[in-house]
Amino acid sequence: MSAAVEAGVQHIPSLFGDLNTVPQDHVRDVAEIKRFLERWTMDPSFRQAYEANPAATIAGLGLSLRIEEITPFIDDDEARALTEAIKAGTDGHYPLSVRRYRAFYREKRQHRRVIRRNAQSSNPHIAAWRSRQIQRCIGQLGMNKADALVHAPAAFELARGCSVGCWFCGVSAPRLELTFHYDDATSRLWRGSLQVMRDVMGDCIKHGFLYWATDPLDNPDYEHFLADFHEVTGRCPQTTTAMGARDIERTRRLLRLASSMDSEIDRFSIITLRMLHQLHEGFAPEELVRVECVPQNRESADRYRKANAGRARQYATRRAKEMMPEETSSTIACVSGFLFNMVDRQVCLVTPCNGSDRWPLGFWTYDEGHFDSPEELRELIEGMVERHMPIHLGCDDVVRCRPDINVEIAGGTDLVFRTKWIRTTFRNVPALEQLVPMMQEGTWTAGEMALTRENESGVPMEQTFLLLTDIFNRGMLDEEPRPASAIVEREAAAV
Ligand code: SF4
Repeated sequence: MSAAVEAGVQHIPSLFGDLNTVPQDHVRDVAEIKRFLERWTMDPSFRQAYEANPAATIAGLGLSLRIEEITPFIDDDEARALTEAIKAGTDGHYPLSVRRYRAFYREKRQHRRVIRRNAQSSNPHIAAWRSRQIQRCIGQLGMNKADALVHAPAAFELARGCSVGCWFCGVSAPRLELTFHYDDATSRLWRGSLQVMRDVMGDCIKHGFLYWATDPLDNPDYEHFLADFHEVTGRCPQTTTAMGARDIERTRRLLRLASSMDSEIDRFSIITLRMLHQLHEGFAPEELVRVECVPQNRESADRYRKANAGRARQYATRRAKEMMPEETSSTIACVSGFLFNMVDRQVCLVTPCNGSDRWPLGFWTYDEGHFDSPEELRELIEGMVERHMPIHLGCDDVVRCRPDINVEIAGGTDLVFRTKWIRTTFRNVPALEQLVPMMQEGTWTAGEMALTRENESGVPMEQTFLLLTDIFNRGMLDEEPRPASAIVEREAAAV
């Protein structure tokens, strides 16, 4: 992350580095606007109060903001005007606090992209596979949704189940049963497992995090695991919790610990308005400047609807107003890599997809296995990489497009792949009238296609291979894991 963010004509210091180097009034400006907007977004009665008496409502929150420092964030026309002014470099007349907040907002968006880029593995098999999954997600989920996915390399559950029990849980967390206790033996397994993942995946493992269908704060030893992760990988992982208000002092200590390890952004899921009030009472705005409060409460604005994945799918009718429409892409999964449960010593290879009857949790699972030692884990992970992550399209691989793609010919010589969200064109492809039906059939191997095209249409084999490799690298071929029953049937037929 750069040390400064360009905003208009001025450089605004980054809030992602050492906050001690940022002027206090800068941190306060951003923290206060952020706090105001949290109440504005999640609390309709606060919005009503503000409309009736803005100055008194701001003061009631204990903030020193003026109305003109807030309007550009809550009025659509004013917000558009600010965006235009920033683009044109003419935002110098806006209050400094407004420009500081916008710079911070932009920095957060950039941060997600930086993480996605830095989370690339140095293992060429994993890197190629992950790149295909990222591109597939753009075609299947749409650019907006795909842009929100960091495709983290790994997630580690430190419990079995979750005590929060949200009705909308996108990964259907079961009731909390057990936590991964920290002692000499488990810390050896934990540190050894992280080291194995670092050896196999590379430095990118530092972009993993320690929760999934769990809440980190269910584990009383979470802070120990966090500190070990930082020691082994060199990075403090993001904490996302819906339990930030349960024990304010513990949360405060955790935020300080994370800050001492240079954490960037943490997140509180706000399940109820009461929780938001408790957090606002418990913490000064500056203490939460780098903690995103994610609106999950019933009263939140419409744009914070729940994904149609996991447990929420059971409420698709009853709570339709709080959920994404059926046709919108729905998943909360953001890992393209390895999902661990340390209680069960289990690891799965996963990647995001739309929630569906076949994949209700919004991610594909390619493989899973159990381990009792770092050595067993290494063997397990290396086996999954070998089985599921080819770098190249092989001669004997069947060329079958993803089912969400329509293959078409345009203008006689253009090969077009169209999904609900994007269109990709390969120009000047010879003998398309032969190629397209082959692709639509989805039964030809790459080698058969190349040979047939050379024999019947005079297209050199290497030309067909280059094209098919390009299509494969863009994640357009069908790599969806087959149902276990189909694999058993295929293996039985082979015998
Ligand atoms: S959404 Fe998070 S906090 Fe809520 S039940 Fe699922 S895992 Fe637990």
